[in-house]
Amino acid sequence: MKNYVFPPPSQIVLPIKGRKEYFPVRRIYCIGRNYAEHALEMGHNPEKEPPFFFQKNRENVNISGEFPYPLWTKEVHFEMELVVALISGGSDIPEIEALNHVFGYGLGLDMTRRDLQAEAKKLGRPWEIGKAFEKSAPMSELTPRTLCGDFESGKITLKINTVTKQEGNLNQMIWKIPEMISYLSRFYDIAAGDLIMTGTPSGVGPVRRGDEMVGAIEGLGSFQFKVT
Ligand code: MN
Repeated sequence: MKNYVFPPPSQIVLPIKGRKEYFPVRRIYCIGRNYAEHALEMGHNPEKEPPFFFQKNRENVNISGEFPYPLWTKEVHFEMELVVALISGGSDIPEIEALNHVFGYGLGLDMTRRDLQAEAKKLGRPWEIGKAFEKSAPMSELTPRTLCGDFESGKITLKINTVTKQEGNLNQMIWKIPEMISYLSRFYDIAAGDLIMTGTPSGVGPVRRGDEMVGAIEGLGSFQFKVT
């Protein structure tokens, strides 16, 4: 039994559909520009170049149903994404074995302070200030893959106040889920508890206080967050 100079922070967790156990979160990897039309709307060429990832902090996970409008920004965007949750990991995982490491799937929003991200991009600085801020990762409960299977396709949508803003299909992902897991495992020791946010379809845009964000993925259901 170790003694600590202060009580260690409590484990960040996600609820699991149909289970009493919780999923303890370790790292959150997010892929950039994984849908061609979204790459285009952000001013980039969507040709298949190597994927790139950034991270959010596990403390950014938000299951409260509310997204508090953050400080120091005038432009916060929604990015609706499929979340992949890992039950095991390793390094140099072959694509053919990648899905064996998946525990389940969830819905997620990669909330982005777009103005701060744009400034960071322009100055060649890291993206954390635009991406890894408090409550910036609204998420749903996880559905075990034993219940929902794996996802190669399926409609993914995001509505703001009942108006559809994002409407895509998981089959539009440039980098598929096994490719993302395999690629990440070459550069990091990925492990149980890791989450992968798999990128967003086109149609991203700003939110305002009072907005209701409703995300849905065919086969996983929907979730709702209010901007406060
Ligand atoms: Mn994203």
